[in-house]
Amino acid sequence: MLNTPPDATESRIEEQIRPLRMDAFAGQQRLTDNLKVFISAAKMRGEALDHVLLSGPPGLGKTTLAYIIASEMGSSIKSTSGPLLDKAGNLAGLLTGLQRGDVLFIDEIHRMPPTVEEYLYSAMEDFRIDIMLDSGPSARAVQLRIEPFTLVGATTRSGLLTSPLRARFGINSRFDYYAPELLERIIIRASAILGIGIDAEAASEIAGRSRGTPRIANRLLRRARDFAQVDGALLIDRAIAIKTLDCLEIDEEGLDEMDKKIMETIVNKFNGGPVGIASLAVSVGEEQDTIEEVYEPYLIQAGYLTRTTRGRMATRLALARFSTGSETHEYSLFDAKPNC
Ligand code: ADP
Repeated sequence: MLNTPPDATESRIEEQIRPLRMDAFAGQQRLTDNLKVFISAAKMRGEALDHVLLSGPPGLGKTTLAYIIASEMGSSIKSTSGPLLDKAGNLAGLLTGLQRGDVLFIDEIHRMPPTVEEYLYSAMEDFRIDIMLDSGPSARAVQLRIEPFTLVGATTRSGLLTSPLRARFGINSRFDYYAPELLERIIIRASAILGIGIDAEAASEIAGRSRGTPRIANRLLRRARDFAQVDGALLIDRAIAIKTLDCLEIDEEGLDEMDKKIMETIVNKFNGGPVGIASLAVSVGEEQDTIEEVYEPYLIQAGYLTRTTRGRMATRLALARFSTGSETHEYSLFDAKPNC
C-alpha cells in the first residue's frame, strides 16, 4: 500500500530528500510562520524553545519539521519513538545525555507506556528527573537536574494523548493535508534531488493523486522514475505518470485498493453503516489502528466517510460511488489496458 510507514530503504531515500531548512519546507504556512516567531524569540532570549506537539496523519512532514526546528535553533536532535521507550530507564538515558537547548524528538508519542509518560512530566516541567537507586529496602530516589531542552512530540492520534501530557506542550501544531499545487512543488524539488526530469503536467498528475500527502507524492514519483527508466525515457512526462498511476491502481482522487475495499465493505456489506471499527477491520483484513490512523482521516476529508457514536457511516457521495452496480473504475473491455 502507498500510505504505509516507510521501510529501511525508503527511510534512507526520505533522508535524502528531506528539507533541512524552514524555507525549503513547503506549505503548512500558518504553522511554520508561528514557529519561526517562537524560534526567533527563544533564540533572542537564549532559552530552549518551548515543547512542541506536532499532530496529523502520517507522511505530512512531522519528523521533517522536528529536524528543521533543531537546525533552526542551532541545536542537536536525539530521536526516538513511543513504542521504543518501554522502560523509564531508556528515557532517563536520553534525557541525561541532552545538552542545553537540544531537541528530543519522540515520534508516536501517544504509544508511550504510562509509567514512562509520568516520568516525562517533571523532565518537561522542571528539567529534573527522579532516578531510583538500588531496589528493595535500600531503594532510594535521587533527583537529577537535566539541561533545559525542547521536547518535540509527534502523533497521528492526538485524541489518544492524556490531558496531563498534552497540557505540558506550550506549542501545539496540527498538520493539514497539502493542496495539489504544493505537492507539485514538492515533487519537482524531489525529482531534482533524485536526478530525474519531470515535466509540469506529469508533476500535476502525480500531485493530484497523492491524497494530500508528501510521502505518497514522493513514493509515486519514485515509481514513475522506475517506469521511465525501464522505458528508456529521460524525462517523466504525462504519459509515463498516468501509466504509473494506472498500473498502481491509484484512481483520480488518490484512493488505493485498501481505501476502496474499506468503502465498498461499508457500503455493500454493512449497508452503508453504521459499523464498528473492530468489525470493519476484520472484514477488510487490516489492523484497526492502521485504518484509524492512515485510511480514515483521508476518507473523511474526501467526503466519503463519517464517524458517529454508533460507528462509521458511508456518506451519500460514497453510496453513489461504491454501491455494487455503480460505475466502477475497473477497465472495461473497450478500454486500453496499460501495459504494466
Ligand atoms: P511524518 O513524520 O509526518 O510521517 P515525514 O516528515 O517523515 O512525515 O515526511 C515524509 C516525507 O515527505 C519526507 O521524505 C519529506 O521529505 C517529505 N515532506 C514532508 N513534508 C514536506 C514538506 N512540507 N516539504 C517538502 N517535503 C516534505
